[in-house]
Amino acid sequence: MNVKKVTIIGAGTMGNGIAHVFASSGFSVNLVDVKQPLLDRALSTIEKNLQRQVKKEKITAADAQATLAKIETNVDISTARDSELVIEAATENAEIKKQLFKSLDELCPAESLLASNTSSISITEIAAVTARPEQVIGMHFFNPVPVMALVEVIRGLATSDETFETVMRLSEQLGKTPVAVNDYPGFVSNRVLMPMINEAIFCVMEGVAEPEAIDTVMKLGMAHPMGPLALADFIGLDVCLHIMTVMMNNLGDDKYRPCPLLRKMVAAGHLGRKTNKGFYDYSLAN
Ligand code: NAD
Repeated sequence: MNVKKVTIIGAGTMGNGIAHVFASSGFSVNLVDVKQPLLDRALSTIEKNLQRQVKKEKITAADAQATLAKIETNVDISTARDSELVIEAATENAEIKKQLFKSLDELCPAESLLASNTSSISITEIAAVTARPEQVIGMHFFNPVPVMALVEVIRGLATSDETFETVMRLSEQLGKTPVAVNDYPGFVSNRVLMPMINEAIFCVMEGVAEPEAIDTVMKLGMAHPMGPLALADFIGLDVCLHIMTVMMNNLGDDKYRPCPLLRKMVAAGHLGRKTNKGFYDYSLAN
């Protein structure tokens, strides 16, 4: 499969980054969201990030212009119909994603590949709503997409070798390092990361140490660039709770039980950086 045009569904945090990296690697990009202002905001974020790369002399001003010229935006999903690859990066909600995959399956040519950037929903389950499960795959990018080198390439139960190899090769064309992962809750990234964050929250709850002390142990003792609690605030405590809950329910093991303090903070609306309050207070930083 020779991929030239890529449609990206969802122009939020991840969608604009994915559009950025495909366009800067020479692909034609169609970015789709439900409202034009969301697309305008995504384009201005991409432009800002490209200007930052120009300032750092990583790319030229002409490269930035060429990248922007590769991106069209649309509010109509039927514009996906001439893409060889569609990457869904819409809101993390299984019903929204299944509806999108049903529509894409009807719209797109039989040979097109359909990928999801989901963090926690089963690729096998999403694939099952289509008539082409062998051409459905996970492409799990990391935030910020233009900076982070990893793509977890997730094989659903029915994903074919050909689809898998095409997506591994494409990820390399983007300058990323793809890693092959099978479809289990949390994949590898969240399966390993989230229990560590959850355990750090248990340490806070049980008074083992203060948040700053826990983060310092992990930064200086384990050479992590960021402590687990600062990272949880960055990701969003609601997102952490959601992923732990998905792993507990779908793996059926209470070693994934979300820490009661995590539940309590989410219930209180202390979600981390996005609400200015989590394990740290960000109100003075903004
Ligand atoms: P976001 O909320 O920033 O953006 C989601 C976008 O999808 C919104 O602009 C929304 O309007 C749009 N959308 C919703 N329904 C749509 C539809 N039917 N058609 C078109 N657009 C639609 O979310 P995000 O953080 O970019 O996450 C997107 C996906 O990427 C999720 O599946 C998430 O789990 C995954 N993900 C997120 C991160 C992260 O760090 N934020 C990392 C890896 C993967």
